[in-house]
Amino acid sequence: MSDTPRHLETIAVTAGRPPHESGAPFNEPVTFASAFVAGGELEYARYGNPSWTALEEALGALEGGECISFASGMAAVSAILEQVPHGGAVVVARHTYQHALLMLDEGATSGRFEVRRVDIADAPAVEATLTGAAILWLESPTNPALEVADIPRLTTAARAAGVRSVVDNTFASPLLQRPLELGADLVVHSATKLIAGHSDVVLGAVVTADAELAERIRHHRGLHGAIPGPMEAFLTLRGLRTLPVRLERAASNARELTRRLADVPGVVEVRYPRFGTVLAIVLADAVAADRVVERVRLWVAATSLGGVESTLERRRRWPTEAPTIPEGLIRLSVGIEHIDDLAADLLQALGE
Ligand SMILES: *Cc1c(COP(=O)(O)O)cnc(C)c1O
Repeated sequence: MSDTPRHLETIAVTAGRPPHESGAPFNEPVTFASAFVAGGELEYARYGNPSWTALEEALGALEGGECISFASGMAAVSAILEQVPHGGAVVVARHTYQHALLMLDEGATSGRFEVRRVDIADAPAVEATLTGAAILWLESPTNPALEVADIPRLTTAARAAGVRSVVDNTFASPLLQRPLELGADLVVHSATKLIAGHSDVVLGAVVTADAELAERIRHHRGLHGAIPGPMEAFLTLRGLRTLPVRLERAASNARELTRRLADVPGVVEVRYPRFGTVLAIVLADAVAADRVVERVRLWVAATSLGGVESTLERRRRWPTEAPTIPEGLIRLSVGIEHIDDLAADLLQALGE
């Protein structure tokens, strides 16, 4: 029997550790260095740092590929989009993360990309737009509409059409969804969110099982320089160790909140994709939603998501949010507090 751990919960704890040797630290220490003495594997710290390597081993093992970490999720998104040939077509969900869409829209204006927006839950419509495209950009569940894509079906169709597929796996994490196993060529993460998990780090990552693609993405990082800091890499790996238990608690809280909010007066709709830690409630309009956000005491009114603390936000307060998102939609990022405290605070904020 091999001694390789089989379960993702175990890999999250064991991967990316220094060897078990007497006197060795359990954790890869933070290496603050700009240069390393010549003659070794590492020479200059824009190309490598042991603190990145430990994190990349662990996240790569969880997603089933080679991981390249970046200064932010957006730096990771950018590194992938840079692989699209000039003028190439990108098929993208209309409710993809708003700044990924902004990057594409700005590129479309300058002729860098052709952008084809689709409803990602409508698989036949997505398939019909793949011809001649360079890349299929999937996010599932989407932010903040929480639509779910049929990833195996769409990655299969993309491959048949000669189109590379990418999945932004920020909302699900590898514990709930492993896109490379579902046929995707690349996975992208804002590790800022669930993976780091404590609202104290900005960091991104790309994972792929294609060695040539990995090499190109790593080359891009070294050349363009959007590298993570060693402290950020350390904190992200520290957060990742507890991802499975945080996720279990937060997802169970989210499921229970979905149930408790269903028949509350004023709540027009509750959206929850049946997994994960993010849900959305739709109220009558912006005024009603803003009132709830102002009245919560335990929940934090804030953007971002995936931390141990529960946060909420009316998404249309951002002018760049898609106009197809209802004005009264509040996105709830559920943390690991006690469910009764979370529910009580929301219900008082929703009350008279
Ligand atoms: C936050 C986020 C990003 C961008 O990541 P940063 O770490 O903020 O740069 C990309 N995709 C999704 C789904 C996100 O939620």
